[in-house]
Amino acid sequence: MIHLFKTRRLALGLAFSLCFCFKLFAQDTVRLQLKWNHQFQFAGYYMALEKGFYQQKNLNVEILEGNKTASPPLDAILNNEADFAISSSSVAIYRMEGYPLVALAAIMQTSPLVWITLKDKDFATPHELIGRKLPVLTPNESAELLTVFRMEGLDLKQINFINHRATVDDLINNKVDAINGYIANEPFLLDKLGHQYNLIRPKNYGVNFYNDVLVTHEKFAKNNPEIIENFTAASLQGWQYALENIDETISIIRNKYAPNKSLEHLLYEAKVIQSLIMPELVQLGHMNPGRWQFIADTYKELNLTQGDNSIEGLIYTRPKADLTWFIHAIVLSLVIILVLLVITWRFAYLSSTLKREISRRQYAERKLIKANNELKAQASSDPLTQIYNRRAFFDKGQSIVRFATRKNYPMSLLMIDIDYFKKINDQYGHAAGDLALQKVCDCIKAEVIRSHDIFARIGGEEFAILMVDCDLQASENVADRIHKRIQELHIPWKNSQSFTLTVSIGIAPVTNELSESLTQADIALYRAKQNGRNCHFTYIDEDEKDVV
Ligand code: GH3
Ligand code: MG
Ligand code: MG
Repeated sequence: MIHLFKTRRLALGLAFSLCFCFKLFAQDTVRLQLKWNHQFQFAGYYMALEKGFYQQKNLNVEILEGNKTASPPLDAILNNEADFAISSSSVAIYRMEGYPLVALAAIMQTSPLVWITLKDKDFATPHELIGRKLPVLTPNESAELLTVFRMEGLDLKQINFINHRATVDDLINNKVDAINGYIANEPFLLDKLGHQYNLIRPKNYGVNFYNDVLVTHEKFAKNNPEIIENFTAASLQGWQYALENIDETISIIRNKYAPNKSLEHLLYEAKVIQSLIMPELVQLGHMNPGRWQFIADTYKELNLTQGDNSIEGLIYTRPKADLTWFIHAIVLSLVIILVLLVITWRFAYLSSTLKREISRRQYAERKLIKANNELKAQASSDPLTQIYNRRAFFDKGQSIVRFATRKNYPMSLLMIDIDYFKKINDQYGHAAGDLALQKVCDCIKAEVIRSHDIFARIGGEEFAILMVDCDLQASENVADRIHKRIQELHIPWKNSQSFTLTVSIGIAPVTNELSESLTQADIALYRAKQNGRNCHFTYIDEDEKDVV
């Protein structure tokens, strides 16, 4: 099992490493369309390939030779026959006509295109070419040669173009009066053939166009900025090398690319190309937006294009990072945060409402309990004296009786009635009667009542005490103490007056039923009243004798 696991892990690791290596060593293949036959004009690209500058940037470059029959280099890009091409300044025309092409580098800072006439004919200016036989030109690729006439105020209609692509031989044989050529080629051939010549250079008439511009498709550039930048950098590095090592470069060109070109011709070409590139003056490949605009304006002025588009975007710039997803992510995050905030706020609101409701109900509940307790207390207590009322006396008393009976505790019941209370009311008033009731109550409570005794007002001026763990003898002692304390009690009344009173007490044992004991205590109390009041009597069963 462990073995199987290890094998699987190894296989996975291997696959991962292979993918990584593949990515590391995988090369992008790109095609470069030259604008003419192999010659020193394209030396930089050959050297970038030969010296491995492309390879160092993981690029596998295929160089496609240009010639008369191949599609114009820019069309090769538009037709997807090449990824890069070497073009003249006419790329500006393409751009104005809406073709999505971008310029990566201008290799020649000055155009190599020239009108060439033979010295003996003496046609040395554009004016002198009017009416002469000139070979037809592809206007886009040789536009600056035509602009020379316009710059001199001459109408192109005045020029006699003959439908013929001319060579040096055609010039010598008088088939044409001038040829359009590359300053690096045709002058060399004429020199070799021993002919002297005039050069009409656009530069001398204020037309200074870029040439041999490295171009690519805008879409390709947008999708592959890394390839674009690597290819441009490696190509310029190749040019740098070629210009610094001309002999080696020529040798490679002769061996691999242009075996038919003589060493002498290539050396001549190298010298001229170097002067057009001007590496000591201008950074290799440099392009100036203002100059491109001038080139575009010149094309328009000369009616060489009907294209009306701006050339903005002609010079390659690295595409800006696509921030759409980032903006979407931020918007989405904000929406999520907002939703969470709303939910949290809603939750907090509900929670606080709930808390408020809970505390409101708790408060109401507390109030209710308090009110209930008060109600209960009111129901069980006498409002005047704050001791138990008759009903509470029976409720509480009966349960105590049951408990004490189970435990065999002795119990007694004292019934206390104020003597001649009616007279107090009559003599001092009802309020004095109320006060007397309270004072008697307080006195008995303070002097004789224990915590487990039940003391209650059971009638108008009648009180009862249920005494637990108290036999008849002990309760008679209590009765004695009550008489004594009540006799000493002076009830204060108006104008520093005070009055006294006495009580009669009936005592009965408590055996089982409290109401029965109360009846017995009432009988004993009656006896005490009959016996002259301010005394107590203890109830004795019918069969036995009553005892004072
Ligand atoms: P006795 O010695 O025989 O008990 O005579 P007594 O006057 O105390 O008895 P009686 O039953 O004739 O009178 C009781 C009086 O108690 C009648 C009543 O007006 C008065 N009374 C009852 N309850 C109250 C009360 O709450 N306040 C006041 N001030 N008087 C009360
Ligand atoms: Mg009474
Ligand atoms: Mg009385």
